[in-house]
This record gives sequence, structure tokens and C-alpha cells, in this order.
Amino acid sequence: MRLDTLLARATGRLTEAGSPSPRLDAELLLCHALGRDRTWLYTWGDREAPTLARARCEALVAARALGHPVAYLTGEREFWGLPLATHPSTLIPRPDTETLVEVALARATRAQGRLLDLGTGSGAIALAFASERPGWQVLGVDRQPEAVALARRNAERLGIANAAFRVSDWFVALAGERYALIVANPPYVAEDDPHLAQGDVRFEPASALVAGPEGLDDLRYLVAAAHEHLEPGGWLALEHGHAQGTAVRELLTAVGYADVASRRDLAGHERVSLGRRPTER
Ligand code: GLN
Repeated sequence: MRLDTLLARATGRLTEAGSPSPRLDAELLLCHALGRDRTWLYTWGDREAPTLARARCEALVAARALGHPVAYLTGEREFWGLPLATHPSTLIPRPDTETLVEVALARATRAQGRLLDLGTGSGAIALAFASERPGWQVLGVDRQPEAVALARRNAERLGIANAAFRVSDWFVALAGERYALIVANPPYVAEDDPHLAQGDVRFEPASALVAGPEGLDDLRYLVAAAHEHLEPGGWLALEHGHAQGTAVRELLTAVGYADVASRRDLAGHERVSLGRRPTER
């Protein structure tokens, strides 16, 4: 069978299965099965599909039809233009989270400084920031050793030398350390949110998604606990749900952060809120 026929069939199968992006998914899975990129596939669509690649592609498409996320099947997802290894023990990097990277970069006006990324997962935020600010020292922490290993592997693979990773449950292993910038994409979905039962999130770790009855448990903790780990004048920036902007601004203001504000994602939703630790007089 020709590669373009195989691709058309895979697309049809994923359309029937209700995948939201059947053509793209089929291309990514076929490319993974072939060990080639999409440009190669567009160029050589009239070639015969090698038997092994065809079998591999069919197995991947069957798993996708059952709902498994493409990023877990291929083991890779691009974030901030960086190809990152993914693993079911960590959240799949999302385009929304690039808003948090933009916010952090906008606050990193000095040539040097220290940034902390809490709950780093695959290391996406830490690595995106580190790749843009080579003069900064970046630390990503996660309470899961598998996540820390994955983030380190990503840093190595990308040759990003100014990002380190460490096991820590939030600030537990960071006693006495202070940062100019602290960022996090914590769990923020309410435990009864129906979207947890739909699509790719069903296969992602609940520990990275769910945070109490209103989804605010971890955000509330981080706002309170980050204060003493910020340098005077340092910024805390947190990703949150599209309807949590007001709540997170209130949390920040209540703890005494200054210049509290929110930023919108590409879809126009308030996605990141930030505040500055006042300089003591
Ligand atoms: N934005 C993610 C979702 O809605 C949630 C990510 C998170 O909880 N940090 O699927």
C-alpha cells in the first residue's frame, strides 16, 4: 500500500473514532512509525509503505482510536519550538502554557538571575525560559523522580546547560533558597470538572490536573508559600484556569503581593496571574 493511501485510511479511522484532529494525528503517528518527518511524508507519499512501518502505524492508530494521546504514543511534543520527550507520568505540554513563558521572559529584564519552575513535569517551562535567557540559572523541581529524570533528559537532548532539575515537593527541598522569578503550572482543575472525563486528559496524571473542589488548593498554597522564596522585588507568575483570574488575583493581593495583574492566552482567556514581592523598607 502507498504511504498516501495508508495516511488516508488512518485519517478515516480516526475521524470515525471521533478524534478532534484526525488528519494531523494520522500524520504524526505515521511519521513516528516511519521514523521520518512530515516534509518527508509529503514528498514521498507515492512510495510503498514498508511492511513493518505499516504494522506499527496501524497499532498506533488503533491506540489513538481508543483515546490515547498522540504525544504519549509518539513520546514527543513540541513546546516553544523545542521538541520535548513526553511520558504518561507528566502532563503533555500545552500551547496555553507558552503564555506563562512569555510572562516570565517579560519580567526577566536583567542579564542574570535565578528562576524556579515548580512542578516542572517534562521541564517544558524551565527549558523554554532557559533557552531564551542563557545568563539565567534555572531550577525545575517536581515531587516525582520520573518527571525529574525526564526533564533532565530533555535538557541534555536539547543541549540546554543553564537548567537543572531536582526532586522536591513544591518548596520542601528548597529551604532558604530565593529566586528573582518563580513560575508554576500547578494542578488547577476542580475535582468534579466534567472535562476530566473527556479526551486526552483522561490519560494524563490526575496529580498534575486536579486541585480540590474549586481547583484552587495548590494555587492558594503556592501564593502563600512562594513569598519567602522570592528575592525582594521578585515576581511570582502562576498559570490557572480560564475562569480563575479573579480568584488568583485576590489570593495574591491578600498575601501582600504588589502590581498584581493577569495575562490572557491566545484564546483570550485570563491564563496567568502575577504579582511582585514588595521591597522591604
Ligand atoms: N489546562 C489544563 C486542562 O485544562 C489543566 C492544566 C493544569 O491543571 N495545570 O486540561
